[in-house]
Amino acid sequence: MSRILVVEDELHLAEGLRFNLEAEGYQVDVVETGEAALERLLPDAARFDVVVLDVMLPGKDGFTVMRELRQAGQFIPTLMLTARGHAADILLGFEAGADDYLTKPFELAILIARIGGLLRRREWLAAAIPLAPAPSEEAGDSFTFGDKSVHFDLLELHVRDQVFPLTLMEANLLHFLIQREGKPVPRKSMLEEVWGLHEDTDTRAIDNFIVRLRRYIERDPTKPRHLLTVRGVGYRFVAAPAGEK
Ligand code: CA
Repeated sequence: MSRILVVEDELHLAEGLRFNLEAEGYQVDVVETGEAALERLLPDAARFDVVVLDVMLPGKDGFTVMRELRQAGQFIPTLMLTARGHAADILLGFEAGADDYLTKPFELAILIARIGGLLRRREWLAAAIPLAPAPSEEAGDSFTFGDKSVHFDLLELHVRDQVFPLTLMEANLLHFLIQREGKPVPRKSMLEEVWGLHEDTDTRAIDNFIVRLRRYIERDPTKPRHLLTVRGVGYRFVAAPAGEK
């Protein structure tokens, strides 16, 4: 049974979530503050499968909790609840390491679908789908290009002697693009197949992920060579750009 930690100080909302998620067959714990969430998660995030994290909390807010968790090397899939109309919050949430977000008020069915998506993607990643033939030195769970290698099983990106921890969503997106090496990938198919979103959704979230991935893998993120923008479509991953070893 999957376990969910709900971090929400509005008790009627928290208890509503508990009731409905339990009805879906999840085991649910609720905490009301960021400090209590960190107390539960920092020693052993593996006790939970997904975290639903509100941004507006008394004391440490959701962004701080997210950042502290990721800095401590805990990459438990986390969905943040942000206030509608605060586009900057979504960006901040992703910067802090969130995997997904929903704006309040949200529909319960959508929250449940997103939680299911986070759980499935974790399994999908763990199942190590073989990558399409590409200039890779290794098979299975890792992919090497130039002086970089992505270790999907460890959620790590190695660039020369540096190691960057990836969030589950960063790793999933990179995996998806690498599998389609050389081909333009529309934002819509990323939303549908990586995020599991079929409704009309703002595609800015994807652009934010690409900005982050470029910071890791591009020597000059303003002049990308691996993660190219395909105008009007989406993005294209190139493992071995011309003129680069
Ligand atoms: Ca709140």
